[in-house]
Amino acid sequence: MTTDYKGLLETIADEVRPLMGQGQVANYIPALARVDPDNFAMALRTIGGDEFAVGPADTRFSIQSISKVFTLTLAMRMVGEALWQRVGRNPSGSAFNSLVQLEYEYGVPRNPFINAGALVVTDSVASHTADPAGLILGFIRHLADQDDLDFDLEVAKSEQENGHRNIALAYFMKSYGNIYNDVEHMLSVYFRQCSIAMSCRELARAFGYLANNGVDARTGESMLSTAETRRVNSLMQSCGMYEAVGEFAYRVGLPGKSGVGGGIVAVVPRRMSICVWSPELDPAGNSLAGVRALELFTSCTGMSIF
Ligand code: GLN
Repeated sequence: MTTDYKGLLETIADEVRPLMGQGQVANYIPALARVDPDNFAMALRTIGGDEFAVGPADTRFSIQSISKVFTLTLAMRMVGEALWQRVGRNPSGSAFNSLVQLEYEYGVPRNPFINAGALVVTDSVASHTADPAGLILGFIRHLADQDDLDFDLEVAKSEQENGHRNIALAYFMKSYGNIYNDVEHMLSVYFRQCSIAMSCRELARAFGYLANNGVDARTGESMLSTAETRRVNSLMQSCGMYEAVGEFAYRVGLPGKSGVGGGIVAVVPRRMSICVWSPELDPAGNSLAGVRALELFTSCTGMSIF
């Protein structure tokens, strides 16, 4: 087992280089398509607070669906068990923005990480505060210990103007009574939460509580109970990578959450949180080089949870 993390991250960065040019940046949100595809960064933070990084690990990118982990955490804190009457806990086997299961399943999405489920989670947060987007941003700033994190309003607007599927999902669920707030209001919160820009180093830090039984090791503050933390990690493990979740478990073996901005955050329970960023995606919408980098990481360290 190696602990020369700096050396290991550099080796991984070299090994994934040939993958550049083999994926596709997300272009269904036009503002995201402007990112330089030729980027690779990775950062890890141990629960003891040691940080190691390679590449542009301080460059911010659009966190997109990674934000769903933060809103789920908030919703679990605010709503508790009642949340699970509105959203399931099983993998969907479908694309993150799929509509197909919703009609069969009466407007109750399969899990909180596909878009339909994340919209319900955002809706539940929105029911408890007048400024849900501000609450979500404040929570993430607190977790990352970074006061200048912000929405990228250009990305949010671009998604709002092109987010026809999310709009369809939201109205469809509203027809089943599973969206309580005004749909446009809820969507504007969701598009802003997805647009938040963060770096690998900031995301590794912000996910620290999930590696540390729910406790933010920096402040000693409990974000979730040990049992709730285990559940968030299990949901990432079973649903965090959409239809490629089995493949990710097979190759990487860690709870992980991806976003179409090219970020993936993975958790090694009771050890560390890891963030990798490379904007080119595979067909499931997960970072191509990012998945490979995490596979190399767990292969070299033996840190898979299995
Ligand atoms: N904002 C994006 C969407 O809702 C997030 C999707 C993702 O990152 N997988 O389509």
